[in-house]
Amino acid sequence: MKEVLLLKYGEIVLKGLNRGYFNSILESRVKRALKNVQGEFKYDYAQSTLCVYGSDDADMDEAFEKAKKVFGVATVCRGIECEKDMEDIRKKLLENIDDLLGSAKTFKCDAKRSDKKFPLKSPQICAECGGIILEARPDMKVDVINPERVISIEIRDRAAFIHGNGEKGAGGVPVGSSGRAMLMLSGGIDSPVAGYMIARRGAAIDAVYFETPPYTGEAAAMKVQTLAEKLTEYCGEMYLHSISLTEIQETLVQNCKEKLFTLLLRRFMVRCASRVAEKYGAGCLVTGESLAQVASQTMQSLAVTDSVATVPVLRPCIGLDKEEIVVRAREIGTFETSILPYEDCCTVFTPKHPDTRPDMAEILEEEAKIDVDGLVERALATDHFVKLG
Ligand code: ATP
Ligand code: MG
Repeated sequence: MKEVLLLKYGEIVLKGLNRGYFNSILESRVKRALKNVQGEFKYDYAQSTLCVYGSDDADMDEAFEKAKKVFGVATVCRGIECEKDMEDIRKKLLENIDDLLGSAKTFKCDAKRSDKKFPLKSPQICAECGGIILEARPDMKVDVINPERVISIEIRDRAAFIHGNGEKGAGGVPVGSSGRAMLMLSGGIDSPVAGYMIARRGAAIDAVYFETPPYTGEAAAMKVQTLAEKLTEYCGEMYLHSISLTEIQETLVQNCKEKLFTLLLRRFMVRCASRVAEKYGAGCLVTGESLAQVASQTMQSLAVTDSVATVPVLRPCIGLDKEEIVVRAREIGTFETSILPYEDCCTVFTPKHPDTRPDMAEILEEEAKIDVDGLVERALATDHFVKLG
């Protein structure tokens, strides 16, 4: 059948006067998602729906799967376009009836008439179409409470559409409509999920990875790159920065109290990441921290790391249990990579008894022993990046 994909908007519908802006971002995101799908696609926006028309050779199955992953799309339906008259609706309904009903045994019709000039009202359209279906497929039963299929007939301004049950889209708002974020991306399970969640709220993402060569190796760096590459499927292009913390780590080990290593290191990470964020136009940092998950994620520890940030630190996983984060990681396809056993700079230097209730005065005392500014500058000088996606 000659299909059209109907991409129903989620929250964009709420955006009032900004709607035009959101539409154009969403359209460009969908275009990007379909870039390598076979066929030519045309786009038309009307009444909270982006219609995607494929050329005759278009791979609509793949286009459907790709469109579902675009943030800002609440539901995707595979529909058929008709002229706005009951004769054509009847004809198309009959031509496509088996595809529309699938293996269902019960159905109901649902009509939306946004063109109020259409001669039949919604209940009449439902009754007509229900009758057409029952006549052609006497094996079907109407069930208005719990139907296996809902056959929707939408009379819109430009044309009419028929479609079956839609599938859930990725939700959220289109990437790029909420600014840019700098994700602190380790090789762990949590930070890729945090990046995904913030991208889903509309932020474009760049990432920064802290390495400590030779304590952490090329394989660990490649693992992080693989994770970042995976995230680009959702968030589009990103720059992945890599910064060496080796001098910082070694300085901490030689000069500072072991129980504070992790926190002192995290403060350096946040200082460096803030600087990278400012330099490349990101308005916030994003981390995968979850309250109380480990020693460095107690409320007191978070306060200690936050205090050196010069941009807000967003922590979308803060209220999630590890198990919930794992479920997300599996869904978005990062879990298998995250559990590959490569060293992370935090794990190489983990203190045996980390402080869970750090005292700010003590932290500052330890930092007074070392050249914080110089260490940050020299770490930033090691920044090198790749463009992904
Ligand atoms: P993750 O699973 O994301 O590694 P985690 O539970 O292991 O998180 P930590 O190792 O304490 O927790 O790190 C907390 C957060 O700090 C991470 O989610 C990440 O955002 C950031 N982070 C930790 N290590 C690095 C690193 N090497 N490079 C960049 N960011 C890091
Ligand atoms: Mg980690």
